[in-house]
Amino acid sequence: MKLITALKGTHDILPEEVYKWQYIEEKIKNITERYRYSEIRIPAFEYTELFARGVGDTTDVVQKEMYTFDDKGGRSLTLRPEGTAGVVRSFLEHGMFSDALPKKLYYMITCYRNEKPQAGRYREFRQFGVEVFGAEDPSLDAEIISMAASLLSELGLKNLVVNINSIGCPKCRKAYNDKLREYLRPHYDELCDTCKSRFEKNPLRILDCKSEICRKIGENAPVLLDNICEECSEHFEKLKKELEIFGINYVINTSIVRGLDYYTKTVFEITSDSLGAQSTVCGGGRYDGLVEELGGSPTPGIGFAMGLERLLMCMEAENVYMGEPSKADIYVAALGENASDFVSGFVKKLRDEGISAERDYMSRSLKAQMKYANKIGARYSVVIGDNEIETGKASLKNMETGESEELTFDEMKDKLKNR
Ligand code: ATP
Ligand code: MG
Repeated sequence: MKLITALKGTHDILPEEVYKWQYIEEKIKNITERYRYSEIRIPAFEYTELFARGVGDTTDVVQKEMYTFDDKGGRSLTLRPEGTAGVVRSFLEHGMFSDALPKKLYYMITCYRNEKPQAGRYREFRQFGVEVFGAEDPSLDAEIISMAASLLSELGLKNLVVNINSIGCPKCRKAYNDKLREYLRPHYDELCDTCKSRFEKNPLRILDCKSEICRKIGENAPVLLDNICEECSEHFEKLKKELEIFGINYVINTSIVRGLDYYTKTVFEITSDSLGAQSTVCGGGRYDGLVEELGGSPTPGIGFAMGLERLLMCMEAENVYMGEPSKADIYVAALGENASDFVSGFVKKLRDEGISAERDYMSRSLKAQMKYANKIGARYSVVIGDNEIETGKASLKNMETGESEELTFDEMKDKLKNR
């Protein structure tokens, strides 16, 4: 029979490599703890409308990349392409605006986008993200950027660039959009079809288009950062100052646009030279209009999302430490029929005491059992036969040094426990 394979753009994380993911997840948990973020877990699918409104219906994600389907009740549902919209929905649905603000949340989720699979670009991928609601001070913007950068550097990454920009607020962007349309108008016919449809509604998105021709046209467009209002400009100046306090090196990259109406002021991306074409590991920004867009009262917000597959690729490319596969503390080998029952009881006792212990389940010869113990990289091993059961003592072998030590079973347990 023909084997069924995984879908294109999805991937298994195999037992041999899962330790790397666990290592990254541990580091994430650790930093969110220190920065005082609480974890939130949200559903993998939502009403399509949430993403259309929350991500923005002029974005690539919504226009081209969503997995949308009708369920049996005729509702249009979508697999989450990102986390922010779901988190904002949950924030509103559970009245978190009445909690002590700011509300600082983080998540680790799978996301789904119908994109052309390639290195660093998948149809199911993982993100670590944070969202903060209720604070508009630029020092928060700087702290979020600094937290993302610290995480990456604690993971051992070096070739990183923090790119920042400001996309202003709806007020200053309105005037800019007019200016941008003026610039783009003579090129209108050359734009891709998607960008033609963005021209009236959200021309800023055209500057983020991946098509070669739109990108070329965008190169000489007026720069949004030169056209932001005084308030936005002050916010940006303060952000830069705060980043300096945090000791974060940054570059101003005026081409970063996360151009939605409700995205405001600060936007940023952390890129890595170690990645090929998909060089952005982390992207984020302020979205002071989003909560209102999704039906709440005006509440400032800011967040970022980090692509974990890309992060892993980066770590592999830079050859940094990525943790180690978990190993058994001890392999307990059984010699003979009687011993097998004794081993069952002993292994259970060890495990109850918090020791990671492995044994034979396949009636293998002693030689084969020891081979297995070696293969799984057990730290210690012990062989238990009639003699050991009778004397209550056995020889605990350190698999690394080859040294052995005669111990009672209780002593053995204590020794492994105190490792
Ligand atoms: P890109 O410009 O690379 O398409 P994006 O702007 O669509 O990125 P965001 O929506 O900001 O990406 O998502 C945040 C992060 O999630 C990205 O910086 C990237 O690391 C990761 N990411 C986005 N799309 C994918 C994907 N299809 N496969 C793997 N990782 C992804
Ligand atoms: Mg994308």
